[in-house]
Amino acid sequence: MAKPFASSADLADKTRSFEELAEGVYALTAEGDPNVGAVEGEDFLVCFEAMATPVAAREWLALLREHTGKPVRYLVLSHYHAVRVLGASAFGADVIVAHEKTRELIAERGAEDWASEYARMPRLFKEPASIPGLTWPTLTFGDRLAIDLGGRRGRLELHHCGRGHTEGDLVAWLPEQRVMFAGDLVESRAALYTGDAFHRAWASATLDRVASFGARTLVGGRGAVARGRSEVDAAIAQTRDFLRVMLREVGAAHERGGTLKEAFQAAHRALEPRYGAWPIFEHCMPFNVSRLWDELDGVERPRVWTAERDREVWARLQS
Ligand SMILES: [Zn+2]
Repeated sequence: MAKPFASSADLADKTRSFEELAEGVYALTAEGDPNVGAVEGEDFLVCFEAMATPVAAREWLALLREHTGKPVRYLVLSHYHAVRVLGASAFGADVIVAHEKTRELIAERGAEDWASEYARMPRLFKEPASIPGLTWPTLTFGDRLAIDLGGRRGRLELHHCGRGHTEGDLVAWLPEQRVMFAGDLVESRAALYTGDAFHRAWASATLDRVASFGARTLVGGRGAVARGRSEVDAAIAQTRDFLRVMLREVGAAHERGGTLKEAFQAAHRALEPRYGAWPIFEHCMPFNVSRLWDELDGVERPRVWTAERDREVWARLQS
């Protein structure tokens, strides 16, 4: 039987967990749906990730409003993917912060990514007509940026750790509480999406850099919050292992002059025992292997995914 396209058949609502990770530091996870977070400053809020639509974002904000009524001064976007940015207008943020490459990627391929992700994950797009248009960061940076939280609340640091899940990922780091929001650079018991990734850099220097912060609590892009060093290390190790298995299997097929389909089958076979039951595994694999194949072919930057290209790759590999 043909597998339903991407996550198009995943229509059941997930159970959401709202957690306070430290005083004034919040996260919302949802069984493998994209995670979001917020950090209280003295008289303002920093929100992390915007969800797929303003209507979806307002549900998160309603939960947050049970804990704090402070206005959102900063909305931080970890990277350009539609399911994390298109709800931005609901926050009424003064400043929308992202890496400079994220701004360029939105300009280059934001519209295509919107159409692609909407077809792949329709459930996440609650009332898609509420999206007013692409989300444009108003403050960008290259290496790092610090936000003074005011009073005695310390600072929130934003760091670019190198190319990884995309060309312009950032992590948000609270040095005093040792809490990290890692975006899709780290997943915790959820499959990786690597369709726009730089696999070799991500699996080595970029994850080394993420690990070097020594987080005690880590909120990945999807999946449960990792609490304590062993869970944080496990989430980073899982992410690295997933990438390494892909590099090994797809690399071997590529090296011996095999086909993309053979590479897909080998990577799927090798990853399936450990990761097959984790959220979005089947959804991601065709896109992941296609991008890695390109990377091994020397295609420097990921090709743009369009709704049409998504279907072609799916038909070629997953059916
Ligand atoms: Zn992403």
